[in-house]
Amino acid sequence: MSKDWTPEELQAASAAMKDAGEMSYEEFTEEVKATTEAKEKIDAFVAIQTDGTTFCPRCGNLTVKERLHTNALSRHANVYVCDACGMDEAIRDWKHTTLPLKEWAIAKLPLVVSTQNTPESPLC
Ligand SMILES: [Zn+2]
Repeated sequence: MSKDWTPEELQAASAAMKDAGEMSYEEFTEEVKATTEAKEKIDAFVAIQTDGTTFCPRCGNLTVKERLHTNALSRHANVYVCDACGMDEAIRDWKHTTLPLKEWAIAKLPLVVSTQNTPESPLC
């Protein structure tokens, strides 16, 4: 059962959360929205990520090797990332400083642009 909050109760709870060093209700709501949008963009990218797609959704560089399965599989999304990002994820996980999905390069794009495989790309 969920409680129906009055705007005053919500504001008081939000202020109490903020005073306790937590995110306010507004910040939390924005965080959830940004993370959800980032996840949707990553999922859309996964659908079009194929051999020859060298864009790394995490750092935004063209550093993903053409044969996808030779790259790092992200620890936080079911998508291939470049080796540098794979290493960065491992180190950040060890340090408990995970890069939020909303900070990924693809999350900062206004929309997912269809990528085309370049026919001249050599497939080894
Ligand atoms: Zn990368």
